[in-house]
Amino acid sequence: MGAISKIPHNKPWINGKDRAAVDAVLKLGWIAQGEVVRSLEAAFVELHDGGEACAVSSGTAALALALYGLGVQSGMRVAVPTYACSALLNAVHWAGAKPMPVDISRDTLNLDPGRLEGTVDAMILVHTFGEPAPVDICRQRAGVLIEDCCHSLGGAVDGISVGRSGDAAIHSFYATKVISGGQGGMVWLRSKEAFDRIHDYRQFDCRPDYKPRFNFQLTDIQAALVLSQFGRLDQVQSRRAAVAKLYARALPAGFGVQKGILNSGRMAYRFVVLAPDQQVREALRRHLERRRISSIIPVERYELLHRYLGLGPEMYPEAERIVDISLSLPIYPSMSEADAERVCNALEEFHP
Ligand SMILES: *Cc1c(COP(=O)(O)O)cnc(C)c1O
Repeated sequence: MGAISKIPHNKPWINGKDRAAVDAVLKLGWIAQGEVVRSLEAAFVELHDGGEACAVSSGTAALALALYGLGVQSGMRVAVPTYACSALLNAVHWAGAKPMPVDISRDTLNLDPGRLEGTVDAMILVHTFGEPAPVDICRQRAGVLIEDCCHSLGGAVDGISVGRSGDAAIHSFYATKVISGGQGGMVWLRSKEAFDRIHDYRQFDCRPDYKPRFNFQLTDIQAALVLSQFGRLDQVQSRRAAVAKLYARALPAGFGVQKGILNSGRMAYRFVVLAPDQQVREALRRHLERRRISSIIPVERYELLHRYLGLGPEMYPEAERIVDISLSLPIYPSMSEADAERVCNALEEFHP
């Protein structure tokens, strides 16, 4: 018997229809930003039940332009969860504003508004690993609220898509995200005025007037790939949810998961287990590795945004603890039942 294949941590789900959609663009010959990008934008307006959508080259560009469109600028304070990727810092700095990292809640791994003192000019609220964040409370604490839906696209609460509560929502189509164009992003904006600002910024070429603008455009090739997958977001959601349900049942004693992981309609973008302590987390990691199952530490200590900013750990006890005990298991929509079972068996056979 040959060696068993390694189960990857994540994998894009590209089928024959997706490839045909890309091929159609290539055959047509209009491969830059065009009609397909506009169709993708229309799909996102529908997803958000109104407003305006502007496709861009990445999730980071989407964050930067959302801040710009909503008038966030030099000297303004922007709250961000400290347990997030550096893209948030990059976007806030690009806008010239000041990032204010906030600690997270251990139940949800989302920004904990209870840890935010007073109000801020703006907030980027991530629905971490697909767990819907507390938008209603945060809206009252921030002048501008941007929902970062990079993990939650296709997820819903009580049948309503995540990402409709803020002034803006942003999405990423990077290779490892819910649906992918290799790279790419989308800004959704409630206000036409904010949309006009970023639309103008993206249209950098052949303008009668000059002011700094930038090429943040998505191509029709990428848009075709994303739009084709967008059509089966429901399936992406239900397949991921099915794997999450199996894992939740096989969870070793003493381990935790995000509070809402099994909630109906939630996007199980990542299945992150929380070990009782770091030693047990490391033991599980080695145990999975021996069984040729990939796992990753979703956010390392050095990546915490307060650490990048040189802020001390005292204000961030939850994030500082979570980085030691968290481990992300393989989950993706094209995962076979046999592979999901292999992970479940490994979990059940783990006795630290
Ligand atoms: C991936 C990601 C981004 C940045 O998106 P890119 O397309 O990689 O630039 C921003 N926020 C979150 C939460 C992400 O996961």
